[in-house]
Amino acid sequence: MVKTPIYLDYQATTPMDPRVLDAMMPYLTEKFGNPHSSTHRFGWEAEAALDIAREQVAEVIGAEAEEIYFTSGATESNNLALKGIMDIWGQKKPHLVTVATEHKCVLEAARACEQVGYKVTYLSVLESGLIDLDLLAASVTPETALVSVMAVNNEIGVIQPLEAIGAICRERGALFHTDAAQAFGKIPLDVNAMNIDLMSISGHKIYGPKGVGALYKRAGRQTALTPQMSGGGQESGVRSGTQAPALVAGLGIAASLCKAEMAQERDRLSKMMERLKTKLLAAMPGLLINGDVDRRWVGNLNVSFCGLDGDLLLANIRSLAVSSGAACASAVSGPSYVLQAIGRTESQAKSALRIGIGRFTTDDEIDHAANVLVQAVESMGGLKP
Ligand SMILES: *Cc1c(COP(=O)(O)O)cnc(C)c1O
Repeated sequence: MVKTPIYLDYQATTPMDPRVLDAMMPYLTEKFGNPHSSTHRFGWEAEAALDIAREQVAEVIGAEAEEIYFTSGATESNNLALKGIMDIWGQKKPHLVTVATEHKCVLEAARACEQVGYKVTYLSVLESGLIDLDLLAASVTPETALVSVMAVNNEIGVIQPLEAIGAICRERGALFHTDAAQAFGKIPLDVNAMNIDLMSISGHKIYGPKGVGALYKRAGRQTALTPQMSGGGQESGVRSGTQAPALVAGLGIAASLCKAEMAQERDRLSKMMERLKTKLLAAMPGLLINGDVDRRWVGNLNVSFCGLDGDLLLANIRSLAVSSGAACASAVSGPSYVLQAIGRTESQAKSALRIGIGRFTTDDEIDHAANVLVQAVESMGGLKP
């Protein structure tokens, strides 16, 4: 018997790995110092925790420790990257390029840039959910300061061609930022091979704690940015505010666990996801997979149960914790803007579920989930073309 509800929403957040909690505990108890206190051991201990974590995060993406800045999460990192870079270039390079299927926090930060007078291009995507590289190349002009394209989509799991995007940006003199909240620690990323200048990272998507993240920012004058918070100049002046050593230590260990176990975890998840897909498609051949079937994160399955209402379906599968859209957009009802951007009809978009598996998912849970879904759809009269 499996324990229900079964957690199948790993793109919304991940449970913390117990090894992460162990690494955090000392900084929640006896090692309580302020990392900015440079006159005594309490401060040095806390600062040492930040140094170690900076190294651990940097190692995952081929960066230097000095290029990692801790923040409260990917939302903050995205805001800092977009607003910070646009603000420093100002009217010298007033153009930002991003994509219609980005996470809300990137889209809203881009809107804020528009409101203060910058120009923003929102690229459309192909039916696969991938960007059109020719369209990107045509959109980046000498006025473009920054291109922001996410690495792995949080709703449909597609993996954007980062290396090709990086090459286009470099060739045209624009900086390249990627929101890697769903990709960091899960797929190989190399900031040099991919020409990535800025990258956003979140702790709670990689089995670390909530409320912490990082911004990778390539060293050098080109990537200088305007801080978005005034204060004591922590994080080399890029992000003021006392760092949270416990959360940062958690992020660091979570990152190094992901690096150490990346290949093996991807293999395991890939087999489980194939098993789930096979079972679902065998019973429901009309199931519509959203997003490219090959270029996708193996822990994500987004499918439209055509002809059925997603919310009604959710009500019939109470033992499964899945999502009918992105968690962050759940407050806003209506069909997903990501699914609409890949050309799904309103009804197809409304019949979609996002199933996310991860480190603690088991084969038994996969089998149970497949059975529950198949039975629920049958009880609702099956899929309709
Ligand atoms: C979760 C997520 C975010 C937001 O990250 P927080 O750390 O929760 O602020 C941003 N972008 C993507 C793609 C995400 O999946």
